[in-house]
Amino acid sequence: MSGGKSKDNMKSISEEMESLVSLLNKYSVAYYRDARPLVSDAEYDRLYDRLVKLEAEYPQARLDTSPTQRVGDDTIQGFEEVRHTIPVLSLDKAYSISDLENFRQRVAKAGFTNISFSLEEKIDGLSVVLYYEDGRLVRALTRGNGEVGSDITAGVRTIRSVPLQLDKKITIACRGELYLNKRSFEEINKTLVEPYANARNLAAGLIKRQKTREIVGSGLDIFIYEGFLDASAPGNAGIGFESHTQMLGFLAEMGFRTNPHTRFVSFEEFEHLDELIGKATEARNGLDYDIDGMVLKIDDFAVREKLGYTEHHPRWAIAYKFESPVAKSILKDIQVQVGRTGRLTPVAVFDKTFLLGSYIENASLHNKGYIEELEIAIGDEISFSKRGDVIPQVEEVLEKNEQGNLTFKFPDACPVCGGKVVDIGKNSFCVNEQCPARIVGEAAFFVSKHAMDIEGIGLSTIQDLYDLGLLKDFTDLYSIDYQRDLYGKLEYKEKKIRNIIDGLEKSKEKDFASVLVALQIPEVGKRSAEILVDAGFDDITKFIDASRAGDAESLSRIPMIGPKMATNVISFFRNPKMLARIEKLKAVPLRMSRQDGGSDMISDKLAGQVWCVTGSIEGYKNPDLAMEEVRRRGARIVSSVSSKTTHLLVGKNPGSKLQKAIANGKTILVPDSEFGKYLE
Ligand SMILES: [Zn+2]
Repeated sequence: MSGGKSKDNMKSISEEMESLVSLLNKYSVAYYRDARPLVSDAEYDRLYDRLVKLEAEYPQARLDTSPTQRVGDDTIQGFEEVRHTIPVLSLDKAYSISDLENFRQRVAKAGFTNISFSLEEKIDGLSVVLYYEDGRLVRALTRGNGEVGSDITAGVRTIRSVPLQLDKKITIACRGELYLNKRSFEEINKTLVEPYANARNLAAGLIKRQKTREIVGSGLDIFIYEGFLDASAPGNAGIGFESHTQMLGFLAEMGFRTNPHTRFVSFEEFEHLDELIGKATEARNGLDYDIDGMVLKIDDFAVREKLGYTEHHPRWAIAYKFESPVAKSILKDIQVQVGRTGRLTPVAVFDKTFLLGSYIENASLHNKGYIEELEIAIGDEISFSKRGDVIPQVEEVLEKNEQGNLTFKFPDACPVCGGKVVDIGKNSFCVNEQCPARIVGEAAFFVSKHAMDIEGIGLSTIQDLYDLGLLKDFTDLYSIDYQRDLYGKLEYKEKKIRNIIDGLEKSKEKDFASVLVALQIPEVGKRSAEILVDAGFDDITKFIDASRAGDAESLSRIPMIGPKMATNVISFFRNPKMLARIEKLKAVPLRMSRQDGGSDMISDKLAGQVWCVTGSIEGYKNPDLAMEEVRRRGARIVSSVSSKTTHLLVGKNPGSKLQKAIANGKTILVPDSEFGKYLE
C-alpha cells in the first residue's frame, strides 16, 4: 500500500468517526434530555458499535467529544485551579416578600414598569460554568471564589445530559447548577457510615471523586440557566439575544438541559408574588431535587444593561430564599465529645430554643476547622438549623460578644483521657487506644442497631460495665460472667441480667454482614458490608487472605466500594489487634461466613480466571447475573478491564471495556453467544 493511499484511508476514517460522534451525540440529547428517541435502539447500538470498533483500531483518531468518553476511567483527577473568563457573580438575596417588593420598587423608580421577569427555581446545588469553544466542551469549572474555580471537566463529561459537542461551532460559557437527585442522595447515603447532611454536599463530594469511573451513573445532573457568548469568536457571528427568554430558547436548541419550570411574570403579576412563592414552596417536596428559593431576573437585556451592577451583584436580579428553619441564641459553652474512632466533636451549648417543632439546646460545630472558620467565641450570638433528620448544626455567628471573649480554643489534649490529640485535615483525634471514650464508644456501636442489634444492652449498660472494670474491649461482652460479676451491682437484678445474656445469645445468629459492620472497619456500613459479601467476600478468611496478598484491587473493583474503602479494608485485616478480636469472636462463635444454606458454589471450573462483562447479555436481565454464574464456578469478577482480566464477556452495546480489552491484547473476548460453553 502506498503512503498516499493510506493517508486517504485515514482521512476517510476520521471523517466517518466525526460523523458518527456527531450523530450519536445528537441522538443522545434527544434520548437523555428530551426522552424522545430519534432512532431505534438497534440503530443507535449499530452506530455506537461501529464507533467503538473504529476507536479501538485507530485510537489516535478518537475524539474527546465521543460518547464513548462518558464511561469514565481511573485516571486520578487533579482539580486544578483555573481562572474564569466570564464574571461569575452571585445574586442579591431576599428573605421576605417585602424584600422582593423593595426590589420591584427600585426597578420601578429607575423607570421600568412595562417589563417582565423570569421566575426560576433556585436549585440547592453547586454552581458550575461550562466552557465551549467552537462547539466543543473544553472545560468545566466550579464557581470557586467567583474568579478562580476547580477544573471538574472529566467528571462533568460523564453526565449524560451535558452536550460534549454542539450543533453550531459557537464559543459560549454556560452557567448551571450541578445537583444530585433526591433518590440517588438517599441511595448513596445509605452506603456511607458517615452520611452527608444534604444532597449538595454529597454532589460536591461526588464530582470531586478522584476517578471519574466512580461518578458514572451516580445521579448527578445539571440545569443550565445562563449563556455568555464570546463576541470576538468567529463561530458566534450573527448570534445574539435581546432577552433571557431568547437566550434560554437558544440554549435549549443547542442541546442544553434547561429547567422546564421556569416561567415569566409581568410587572403587574409581581404584586401577587406571595401567591407564586407560596405555590413554589408547596411544590418543593414533589421535585426530584432540592431547591432553596426562587430567582427573579429581568427578562429584557437592554433594561438589564441600564440597571447595571453593584460591586457584588447585578441590580436586575434577586434570589428569594425560602424561610429557612434557623433559630438564634447566645453561645454558653462548647463541649468537646470523643467518639468511638477517637474523633473530637465540639458541640455548642445554648439556652433551650424552639425550632421546627421541638426545643433544642445543643448543635454540632463539626470540628476544629469549623470553629476556626466561624471564629466562634463564648457569648457570641449564633444561628443554628435543623436540616432533614440530621442533628442541629451551628450555621453562623450573627453578633460578636461584648465581653471580649476570643475564638474558642480547641483542646490540644483529649478531654476524656488527657491523651495526645492529632489533627487530620479539619478533624482532631485522640490516638490513645485505651481512651475510655473510645472503648465505650466502640462497644456501644457493636451492640447498636447499626451492627449486632443486641437487645438488653445499651450505652448506659456499656458505661456501667466499663466503670466496674468488666469491659476493656467489646469482645469482652461475650466472656463476662454477668450472673457472678454484675448481679446486685448498681441496678442490676435478675431480669435485667437475663435480658443481657439472652440478647448476647441471640446475636450469635446474626448474619455475617452484620458481624462485618460490628468489627468497625472504617467507613464500612451495612450496605457496603452486604455489597462485599454479595461480591464474593462471603467468608472472613477471604478478607484476611486478600489483605495478606495486598490485593486492594479486587476490592476496589467491586461497584460502590472504591479505592479508599478497599485500602481501609486491607489495612484493617492486617492489624494484629483486629485479628485478635476476630479470633475471640470466632470462638464465641459469631458467624464468620455467609450462612444462607451453605455455599452457593457450583464448581471450580473457572478458578484462577478473572472475568469482566460489557454490554447487555442475551438471556440475562442484568449483566451482573451473568457474572454471578461465573463467580459460582470459581472465577473472580472485576468491574473494569485491566491487564489481569483473563476474560471479557461481550454483549450487545459494549462500552469502552471492549476497547481496553482489545488494547491490552491479553484478554479473551467471549461473545455472549458462546457464554453457555463456559458454564457447562
Ligand atoms: Zn482520649
